[in-house]
Amino acid sequence: MDLDRLFDNNVAWAQRKTQEDPTYFVRMAEQQSPQYLWLGCSDSRVTANDVLGLDPGAVFVQRNIANIAHSNDMNLLAVLEFAIDILKVRHLIVCGHYGCGGIRRALGEDRSALVDHWLQPVVTLYRRHRAVFDAIADDNARIDRMCELNVEMQVRRIASIPTVENAWARGQELHLHGWIYGMHDGLLRDLGPTVTSMEERDALPPIDDRVARPVEPDTGVRRHAIDAFTKLLDEKGG
Ligand SMILES: [Zn+2]
Repeated sequence: MDLDRLFDNNVAWAQRKTQEDPTYFVRMAEQQSPQYLWLGCSDSRVTANDVLGLDPGAVFVQRNIANIAHSNDMNLLAVLEFAIDILKVRHLIVCGHYGCGGIRRALGEDRSALVDHWLQPVVTLYRRHRAVFDAIADDNARIDRMCELNVEMQVRRIASIPTVENAWARGQELHLHGWIYGMHDGLLRDLGPTVTSMEERDALPPIDDRVARPVEPDTGVRRHAIDAFTKLLDEKGG
């Protein structure tokens, strides 16, 4: 039966880990000290540790449909408080992904489910700029553009949550990042904005100003790494 297979997998994984590193689970049983908080989509294909190439213990994770930050989401607020005040994570990464089903839903017409309440900030942004989005003829390109803007919007929303403001006010180091993941190539792109203080947050253009402007994903070294990987794929004919 399928569930038995999961337990078998688990035992095999634990054995493999222990063979590779006999003290692995001894270390894991001690207090976690992740430096990163990941706010990602619940999509089963975007798992923070895999995408970042990190072991358990390295990243604190919060996921929901379309990686949205609602300021009345008790779950998110508790995660933020614990991650920032207790774990003292240094980087908070909002990571969306291209082809997001939640974003696809928000750009459609159906409003018959609870998820439509959840997606309301995206729906609202879409309605305000419907002419710009609808001018993008290709459905997937339109959705992907909103996936990018949604990341930018959620970074702004998190930057206004008091837990984050309080950390900055007391001089705690905390960097917010907006990234997006491509399931078609397994690569992360840095979309921005990167925000490290209330002053930087207040200097950001409103999300509405960003709608009509092309995003410029990737920066510096990261771009270089992606170029190298893309070249490798091309050489392999993929
Ligand atoms: Zn998604």
